[in-house]
Amino acid sequence: MKVSLVGAGPGDKGLLTFKGAERIQSADVILFDRHVGEEIIDMIPDSAEKIDVGKTAGRHPVPQDDINRMLLEKAEQGLNVVRLKGGDPFVFGRGGEELELLAEHGIPFEVIPGVSSAIAAPTHAGIPVTHRDWASSLHIITGHAKKNSDPRIDYDALIRTKGTLVFLMGLAFIGDICANCIAAGMDRDMPAAIVENATTGMQRKFVGTVETLPAMARENNVASPAVIIIGKVCTLSDRCDWVSKKPLLGRRVIVARAKAGRSNLSDRLREAGCYVTELSGAKITPLTSPGCHLEQTLEKINAYSWLVFTSGVGVNVFFDYLRKKGLDIRALHHLKVACVGSETEKELNERGVRAAYCPSEYNGAALSGGLSELVKSGERLFIARAKDGAEELTQILTDMGLAFDDVAIYEKTPGERKIIDPSADLAAFTSSSAVEWFVRSAANMDLSKTKAVCIGDRTANTAKSYGMKVYISDQATVDSMVNKIKELCV
Ligand code: SAH
Repeated sequence: MKVSLVGAGPGDKGLLTFKGAERIQSADVILFDRHVGEEIIDMIPDSAEKIDVGKTAGRHPVPQDDINRMLLEKAEQGLNVVRLKGGDPFVFGRGGEELELLAEHGIPFEVIPGVSSAIAAPTHAGIPVTHRDWASSLHIITGHAKKNSDPRIDYDALIRTKGTLVFLMGLAFIGDICANCIAAGMDRDMPAAIVENATTGMQRKFVGTVETLPAMARENNVASPAVIIIGKVCTLSDRCDWVSKKPLLGRRVIVARAKAGRSNLSDRLREAGCYVTELSGAKITPLTSPGCHLEQTLEKINAYSWLVFTSGVGVNVFFDYLRKKGLDIRALHHLKVACVGSETEKELNERGVRAAYCPSEYNGAALSGGLSELVKSGERLFIARAKDGAEELTQILTDMGLAFDDVAIYEKTPGERKIIDPSADLAAFTSSSAVEWFVRSAANMDLSKTKAVCIGDRTANTAKSYGMKVYISDQATVDSMVNKIKELCV
């Protein structure tokens, strides 16, 4: 039993610490709030209870005292509690307040720092917060001040430091903040910047002066969350910019997928600057309880000559189970391995296994067609895949008179429904069942407007059958999908 106060960073899940990710994976219950990135919330395992304290049904945040009490109650039930907070928990995060009650009750806790937006927003705007020529100190200030300046903020002192000023929670008061700086003697032409949604695919930055910034924010409808940066270092913002160069910055893509877990496609698109909404159609449940079909099949593994995988998830479930049983690839030494899909092949490679056969096309017909030429008479196939997998594969094998066992090693059950991003530029599908899941989630959408980038013919046919505008990647690979999306968006 422990409470871990974890800084989730500014939004990009890549900026979460290893330690933070580890705590999320082993949590029983996770309380999170508004500025925690959606990608990070998606990392929470299905087994953990998720509590959104950023908003309730009435859209009001849960009062601080209630959060403090909830943390205590959950910890007293003996659970591993993670309190996830945007940025760093102690930088305007009320982290201290949340620990006090725990300390009083003798509950063990730890604090895992996060990358604060005060640091990440300038880095992602190409603004070095310190510079030997221009700024030798950095000041992080709450902008959440009452009208006419907060008496706790000594603008005269701040300006005398000639350091870089970074205001959090300041957007609503940007006029007052800039006016206060000028009133305290700051040059009206002092460079200043505002960074909205820093580190996400929706990041925008505006650079002006302390005099022009408030109007700039207003004219461009800058919305929260945003960081205000004031200081000479802002002049470097063009030269040191690296985010605006991302080819897909600001593009909104829905990555619909039938499976859970990490998506290479989403990762790659985010790298290219996209704002990705993932729609995971499935939770993966390994079918590995005692006496399961997988266990029975492994017991007679010597009766097989081929082992066939049709998904990366299948590979992972299979090898995880093998390890649980105290076995490794040597138990499979007599088997030839076949698979379909580059991701499946990649997962196999990571497990130290090279596929003897992997068709260039991503479909079951190509796999069974190829196998029918390679499998010798008397050889039996062990197909390790999802429950209710496509019949295409097994039908062709049956028609060809090949002996096989179709072993369901995991099950896909419907994932959590999400609202589909109505302003998305396009949707990307890596399987036919992902299209089906998207359609189920898109209850009232006009699908004829949806641009669908599909990984192969089968996926494309499903998308077409719902009237979507379909584009097929040149190859059945994540790289090729990304290239197709660039072609369509840039
Ligand atoms: N503990 C957090 C700050 C909480 S206060 C941290 O260390 O970052 C909330 C403020 O943080 C917002 O009003 C905004 O000023 C800033 N903020 C958080 N995430 C941001 C983001 N992705 N982009 C810009 N500002 C962000």
